[in-house]
Amino acid sequence: MRDATHALIVIDVQNDFCPGGALAVADGDAIIAPINAALAEYPVKVFTQDWHPVGHSSFATSHTGKAPFETTEMPYGTQVLWPDHCEQGSNGAAFHPDLNTTPGDLVIRKGFRPQIDSYSAFFENDRITPTGLEGYLRTRGVTHLTLVGLATDFCVAYSAIDGATLGFDVTVDTTLCRAIDLDGSLQVALDQMKAAGVTLV
Ligand SMILES: [Zn+2]
Repeated sequence: MRDATHALIVIDVQNDFCPGGALAVADGDAIIAPINAALAEYPVKVFTQDWHPVGHSSFATSHTGKAPFETTEMPYGTQVLWPDHCEQGSNGAAFHPDLNTTPGDLVIRKGFRPQIDSYSAFFENDRITPTGLEGYLRTRGVTHLTLVGLATDFCVAYSAIDGATLGFDVTVDTTLCRAIDLDGSLQVALDQMKAAGVTLV
């Protein structure tokens, strides 16, 4: 067991991001058993859950003439448009049934505002609106974060970069992550994480 300053943040291991889901990440379910095993090493355990209202602005179906994986311009910048996924209360939004969330201290939901997406566990995609996770971790005395989950090149990377920018010591265990890799997005994300001071193992 690591000391009390260490948290494991498990990003979006939900049915829709696993094989068979609406926005499936290849091999996404392969990380579940080792994540379950890793939980025992961390005194602070946080799970995040993508949690969109029906008709969310990140869905391609909300934009006339747009297909999934195309982009659009939002007031906060360029947004990738996704298949409908992780709708609040749906089976797709549920954690994968094999993921052991029982020992979790906190479940933080994100992406619930209709007009803005939220990849990061810390800030929505405007990079300003906080989720509250930073305050939770600081008040518990956490300084070191290990991030795992789905997908490496979106929600994991954004969370890792924001965590490092906020001053946390951030490690991403890439063996416990899987990527979407949209037009080279994985390599871009890995480079950006390194540049932000994130440790990749
Ligand atoms: Zn989403």
